[in-house]
Amino acid sequence: MSNLRFEAVSEASKRKPVEVTAPSERPSEFFGKKVFNRQKMYKYLPADVYEKLVDVIDNGARLDRNIANAVAKGIKQWADENGVTHYTHWFQPLTEGTAEKHDAFIEHDGKGGMIEEFSGKLLVQQEPDASSFPSGGIRSTFEARGYSAWDPTSPVFIIDDTLCIPTVFISYTGEALDYKAPLLRSLHAVNVAATEVCHYFNPDVKKVISNLGWEQEYFLVDESLYAARPDLMLTGRTLMGHDSAKNQQMDDHYFGAIPERVQAFMKDLEIQALELGIPCKTRHNEVAPNQFELAPIFEETNLAVDHNMLLMSLMKKVARHHGFRVLLHEKPFAGINGSGKHNNWSLATDTGILLHGPGKTPEDNLRFVVFITETLMGVYKHNGLLKASIMSATNAHRLGANEAPPAIISSFLGKQLTDLLEHIEKADKKDLFTVAGKQGMKLDIPEIPELMIDNTDRNRTSPFAFTGNRFEFRAVGSEANCASAMIVLNTAVAEALTDFKKRVDELIAKGEDKTSAIIDIVRQDLKTCKPIRFDGNGYSDEWVEEAAKRGLDCEKSCPKIFERYLDPASIKMFEDMGVMKKNELEARNEVKWETYTKKIQIEARVMGDLSMNHIIPVATHYQSQLAKNVENMIDIFGDEEGKKLTARNINIIKKIAERTQIIETGVEELVNARKVANKIENEHDKAIAYHDTVAPKMEEIRYQIDKLELAVADELWTLPKYRELLFIR
Ligand code: ADP
Ligand code: MG
Repeated sequence: MSNLRFEAVSEASKRKPVEVTAPSERPSEFFGKKVFNRQKMYKYLPADVYEKLVDVIDNGARLDRNIANAVAKGIKQWADENGVTHYTHWFQPLTEGTAEKHDAFIEHDGKGGMIEEFSGKLLVQQEPDASSFPSGGIRSTFEARGYSAWDPTSPVFIIDDTLCIPTVFISYTGEALDYKAPLLRSLHAVNVAATEVCHYFNPDVKKVISNLGWEQEYFLVDESLYAARPDLMLTGRTLMGHDSAKNQQMDDHYFGAIPERVQAFMKDLEIQALELGIPCKTRHNEVAPNQFELAPIFEETNLAVDHNMLLMSLMKKVARHHGFRVLLHEKPFAGINGSGKHNNWSLATDTGILLHGPGKTPEDNLRFVVFITETLMGVYKHNGLLKASIMSATNAHRLGANEAPPAIISSFLGKQLTDLLEHIEKADKKDLFTVAGKQGMKLDIPEIPELMIDNTDRNRTSPFAFTGNRFEFRAVGSEANCASAMIVLNTAVAEALTDFKKRVDELIAKGEDKTSAIIDIVRQDLKTCKPIRFDGNGYSDEWVEEAAKRGLDCEKSCPKIFERYLDPASIKMFEDMGVMKKNELEARNEVKWETYTKKIQIEARVMGDLSMNHIIPVATHYQSQLAKNVENMIDIFGDEEGKKLTARNINIIKKIAERTQIIETGVEELVNARKVANKIENEHDKAIAYHDTVAPKMEEIRYQIDKLELAVADELWTLPKYRELLFIR
């Protein structure tokens, strides 16, 4: 038998780091080189056009056709100078990743020749064939065509010879077919709601911005080894593979020296990312072998989301130049850590004050407490929905399945903040004020210690932790579009703030003093949202019990978790905040269930194929070798003595027979379970069937395969093993 695995291992071990030549300029000079940012706008656009475009970007002013034409002209000139020949509307359909359809700049000139053209119309709108993107019934129910429309708040950029225009993707009847449209609506909602609440404290605040700083975790695998693992190629994860004797137990990878080949890859990636305006800052090894992380400086959420999408596709491309494949799957390998994408989230005002940071005056501190409390209210009220926003067939392997964190959303605040909130909730109300001479009553909120800013007694087990000046949403999956989580989080906070303001205003209308009214409602809400606060070990079994008692959502089944999008409270929230309508939510859930089913379906097929074409033949082959040996020994030593001497082999022969038998039956059952599930019409029920009957079968089969891997002679095994995949030389 020829063994692809050995060829792959040998090729991988020979690969050398790729030489990366850094640009001669400093990073600050080549940063944003390929982005039509403000500097370029200023350079390539007439002054009045520049002013108007900035107004569109900063203040959401309307973009009229003349301006669009003038902007297109400036962009075209810049693009020409950079050797660009094509343009594309770049959007984020409900599948993973991004979509693009490249068009050349050329148009007929009407005289039999060609002219190069790029008008405002082409910049602003394009019609990709919506029928090939999932839209969960929106298309059949509403309108067949969709179009993409320019999002001027995220700058145009160049990749190779193509001008990429960030766009929303919507149907002609206005339903969102992508992630960006609802994200922009949620950012608008939180801006409106938070600005109004800010006005209690500072009437000059014009807008509130949501910030996002993501931390992207990923694995690298050598390209040859990857090519010898059909499961990695087709599903993004290993469906089988016995633990490597050494993996992460020594804790020697985290913050360890970065291997040279990886270092070269990172350098290359960072240069290209910086040129695209992605402010990469941090890179390091992660806990598991071959696992790494990249984090940029935080940005406005819409831009940060685009940059993350762009980075993920860039990573895949650059990795290949270095003989790697990048694995963004949340759980490519069993038994070692999976990958997440922490979403560091905060709100900031245009006056530069970060809302999530204690201030100097008691009023600042009260404002801080209000925003913390109402964030917790949003997270508490919609904890099930927030979980749904980060749930996927792939992330399910991290959450509450084989690995912590559990599939329960809770929030860690740390001791100091907890003490402060307890004080505000429980103190006698008059103790929150002091008598200040003629001015009457003055707010007396305890000083918030500076220390809190670097509050690093971080609880790594908490899915939503306060980390000094932001919340860190840690349950987001490495492969996910951050927009999904950011839509729900920002909308939930917008709703909480709106509701907060309504109740405060009611008290004020009844004659209560403003500050006193704010304190009353904050105290009410602190009590209400208490169940979401948990500073203990989120990975413990006791917490799962405790969380259930507190009424937090503890559902573990991915397709059932998606149901939270259609809870009356969720629909009301999305509709009230103007983010999504019921029909959009329904349609999007169809896509979620369908995607879930397809993923498990593909995995089940690959599992079946590998079992029948790799595992069983290899195991039987080895079994025959052993049988031959037993036969020979009997020939030499006679029946009794021969069997005695080959007892071990006979035992393995039996074990292999048993295990291959179980695998074969398992694969049959797997096929049958699929057949039954495939007959179900309803996407929701089908996904549940896949979850309940197909997925568990794969686990059973895997168990047997991994045992066989240990039993069969190494030289016969055809699939690269964990110990080979996981250690880059
Ligand atoms: P750690 O791994 O310790 O959590 P990192 O330094 O890797 O931290 O990443 C922290 C991320 O949080 C970075 O993207 C950083 O820019 C971002 N961040 C810092 N402050 C804020 C803030 N106020 N709002 C949003 N993101 C923030
Ligand atoms: Mg972090």
